[in-house]
Amino acid sequence: MSTTLFSKIINREIPATIVYEDDQCLAFRDINPQAPMHILVIPKKPIPKIVDAQAEDQALLGHLLLKAGEIATSEGYGDAFRLVVNNGAGAGQTVFHLHVHILGGRGFSWPPG
Ligand code: 5GP
Repeated sequence: MSTTLFSKIINREIPATIVYEDDQCLAFRDINPQAPMHILVIPKKPIPKIVDAQAEDQALLGHLLLKAGEIATSEGYGDAFRLVVNNGAGAGQTVFHLHVHILGGRGFSWPPG
């Protein structure tokens, strides 16, 4: 698996505003926020895309969603927020280290753009 800038954030080689960390994941504020709350939750394991996850990653994937919900709630924007996982460049993925976007603090439309 290739190294991305998110691995460098995990390793403190480049700075980020970290809001949560444990042995499995890291959460930090997006450098180009698309909403008042825009946080990325990433596994420390460098899985490039959700489709690259394996059966052995099942608990890790659940952990990311559990923590995303807790982090979103702790930010104080209520229970209206959106979780997004872009898979592949055609879907808007630009960093190939799996990440869950937490977006909140504004209204959202459906379908997404
Ligand atoms: P994607 O488009 O891959 O789903 O999302 C990647 C996200 O990473 C984008 O929202 C982008 O703004 C964010 N991002 C890219 N580089 C950096 C960085 O160096 N630091 C932080 N905090 N976020 C970044």
